[in-house]
Amino acid sequence: MSDPISQRPTRIRVDLDAISSNLRAIRARVNVPVMAIVKANAYGHGLLPVARHLQSQGIDQLGVAFVEEGIALRRAGLTVPILVLGGMFGPQVAQYLEHDLEITVSSLAKLRQVEAATEALGRKAVVHLKIDTGMERIGVHSYSCGPFIEAACTSRWCTIKGIYSHLACADDPISQMTAQQVERFAEACAHIERIGAPMPIRHLANSGGVLHFPETWLDMVRPGIAMFGVMPEPASHHTLDLRPALSLLSQVVYFKVVKAGHPVSYGATWAPKNDSRVVTIPIGYGDGWPRALSSRGSVLIRGERHSMVGRVCMDQFMVDLGANGSAYNEDEVVLIGTQGNESITTEDVAISAGTIPYEILTGLNERIPRLYDSG
Ligand SMILES: *Cc1c(COP(=O)(O)O)cnc(C)c1O
Repeated sequence: MSDPISQRPTRIRVDLDAISSNLRAIRARVNVPVMAIVKANAYGHGLLPVARHLQSQGIDQLGVAFVEEGIALRRAGLTVPILVLGGMFGPQVAQYLEHDLEITVSSLAKLRQVEAATEALGRKAVVHLKIDTGMERIGVHSYSCGPFIEAACTSRWCTIKGIYSHLACADDPISQMTAQQVERFAEACAHIERIGAPMPIRHLANSGGVLHFPETWLDMVRPGIAMFGVMPEPASHHTLDLRPALSLLSQVVYFKVVKAGHPVSYGATWAPKNDSRVVTIPIGYGDGWPRALSSRGSVLIRGERHSMVGRVCMDQFMVDLGANGSAYNEDEVVLIGTQGNESITTEDVAISAGTIPYEILTGLNERIPRLYDSG
């Protein structure tokens, strides 16, 4: 703890017990195995500590976006099954095999690339077939996937462990899109039955699916953001008792009185109408605290909510306490989390910044030390 970087007054605290509690709530609801999605540094919570914790909680499987993320998990000693969700590049197949990572195969051409590499290395690949049921991102279109499925199921070099698709609108409980995607996915799976191949694990549900659409749970679910206690869409109603795992904290580094009409920060976009007490907080967009929060966001100091004023700088931003607000240097500042009776959620920050909670969480970068609480 003498490391000055981990001593930075700005820090993220991750409550690992909240993650376990959310996982328990999800499992109790869906009653099928869970593939916990830990891409993008576990949604900003820290890839390795979160993955280790999930493994200690008996997680069935982990999912990441890129092969590099899977390799980092294996190098850290993680032993659970890991699926790489993103599109595979041909030259990467050897890396998947070497690190025992499951491959998303999203086209016939990619299937052939996997087969060529596995045959050359004399080692079978474990794959999940990706069907596009409406996202138009990666995957074989459900309406023309017959030949792809037949080729995969008869491949000597691939073990077909899973078949899956991704939901485009599951954060919206009233969207008709999800029912259509469920139907298209069922049609794709019917090809497997038709050729008499064993049915692999069928998985479809992201957090939105887990929260709002039981017909998407199938044989396994793939929650990401919900496991961290954050809603996929700020307006989502809570159908599960989830606890936010991440808090973002800092401390007052400077206090001053700004005279009426004297503008604050770059561009001189804001000035107090009357003399006002203004404090400076040492975190900025260089840490991933969005510049879009300029004169829009708020923070908690001494249990009260105060407005961010002027433009967010790379490393600092200012907060107006008004004529009578009080704060001292080193007072705790809560950017995300709870102080006294007040809380600011990641969803609140996303609304103020005009974005989604995912972008807020994954934007918080390596410059901010992360501390882990449990037990
Ligand atoms: C990111 C991702 C998920 C998890 O999404 P959440 O909305 O965070 O639950 C699941 N499946 C795939 C394919 C993904 O890319």
